[in-house]
Amino acid sequence: MTNKTLALDERLYDYVLNVGLREPEVLQSLRQATEKEELSIMRSAPEQDQFMAMLLRLMDAKRVLEIGTYTGYATLWMALALPDDGEIHTCDLSEQWTFVARRFWEEGGVDGKVHLHLGPALETLDALLQGGQEASFDFAFIDADKVNYQGYFDRCLQLLRPGGLIAVDNTLWGGAVVDADDQEESTRAIRIFNRKLKDDMRVELAMLPIADGLTLARKR
Ligand code: CA
Repeated sequence: MTNKTLALDERLYDYVLNVGLREPEVLQSLRQATEKEELSIMRSAPEQDQFMAMLLRLMDAKRVLEIGTYTGYATLWMALALPDDGEIHTCDLSEQWTFVARRFWEEGGVDGKVHLHLGPALETLDALLQGGQEASFDFAFIDADKVNYQGYFDRCLQLLRPGGLIAVDNTLWGGAVVDADDQEESTRAIRIFNRKLKDDMRVELAMLPIADGLTLARKR
């Protein structure tokens, strides 16, 4: 027994998936299709996305923001957890990956809930703010280029209602956050983001060592 988070070896991780994951068939197919893409490492972890889907249901979330669509795996998990009149606005730059995404959103019957914004996410978020959507979203998932994390976070926070939740992915960055030799731009950006968030009194904070690190920030 331990009161620290266990480091999962392959066997224990497989066990978690075997007894803990209820992945709908359409998501399994999307996961398999994503494995074939060159950057499949960018797909978020199924147990993490299942957890976020549960958070959405707990919150009765209706309006969701996602920064970083990739092949739409997390998008699909979240969209399936939303009510029929729910909507998810998801931002990405890539036609190629979101082409895969669209196919599976349709197959999962959620394409009517998903609004894809192709273009720089900072601009999309600014446009939503200018369009009067401040404080109108329940949940945001940030999982895109790390150097812009703070910019995404600040805008998402404005777009969220009080009590809304932001989930930020990759906040442990493969452990590189504690490797002083790693001064790569993304690593440094995540370190600065994490450090600043600790003192950000606009939110309540929980940092979960699930997958590559998932930080939850609830807007006060
Ligand atoms: Ca990620």
